[in-house]
Amino acid sequence: MPILVTDFDGTFTRRDFFDLVLERHDPPGARALWDRFLAGQLTPLEGIAGVLGSLRTDEAGVEALLAAMDPPPGAAAAARALQAAGWEIVIASAGCRWYIERILADLDLSFVIHANPGWFAPDRGVVMEADPRSPYHDPALGIDKCAVVRAALARDAMVAFAGDSPLTDGPAARLVPPGLRFATGPLARAFAADGTAHRSFATWPDIAGFLLDHA
Ligand SMILES: [Mg+2]
Repeated sequence: MPILVTDFDGTFTRRDFFDLVLERHDPPGARALWDRFLAGQLTPLEGIAGVLGSLRTDEAGVEALLAAMDPPPGAAAAARALQAAGWEIVIASAGCRWYIERILADLDLSFVIHANPGWFAPDRGVVMEADPRSPYHDPALGIDKCAVVRAALARDAMVAFAGDSPLTDGPAARLVPPGLRFATGPLARAFAADGTAHRSFATWPDIAGFLLDHA
C-alpha cells in the first residue's frame, strides 16, 4: 500500500496552531519564549510546548482557534479519494495530537497520527508532552519525522512526503524521491534556493490530485 507521510500545521491545514495562539491571544511571555527558540536557546519541542501552554482561553476560544487553522476546501474529499485509491495517509507532526484529532474528527477523517500527546484545560492551555515510548520519539522535536518516513519506506517502495518547514520537515522530505517530495511555504522556498528537486504545492488537495493522476 503506497503511503503519504504529511505534516499537519501549515501543510494539511493552511495555518499553524501555535502561530494562531501568538497572533490571536498573544499570551504573556509567549513571544519572548518563542524568541528564545528562534535564538537557539530552546528545542522546537520546548518552544512549541511553551507557546501552547501559555494559552489562556475557554472551550469556545479554543474552538475558534481550531476553526481558524483552515483546512482548505476539498481537503477531506481529496483525502478520502486518496484512501479509496489505496493510499495510507500518515500524519507526522511536531505539534500536538490533541488538536490534530479534533480537526480530523470534525472532517470525519481517519489518519494514522504520529504527534505529541496532550490535552486542553482553560487554566493550563494546550499541555503538550513528548512520548518517550513512541518508536518515533525524538528529544528535540518530540517526533522524529525521518524515522516515520524510514518505517514507511520499509513497508512500501512508494512513499510520498509533504511539509512546509525547513527545520522540522526538510530532512524527512529528502528521504523520498523528488517526484514524491511535496513542499509549500518556507520549505518550498528553501528547496528552490538550494536546488533540491521537489514538487511545490499551494494547498493539500493539490498533492492528492497529483498522486491520483500520476503515481
Ligand atoms: Mg508545518
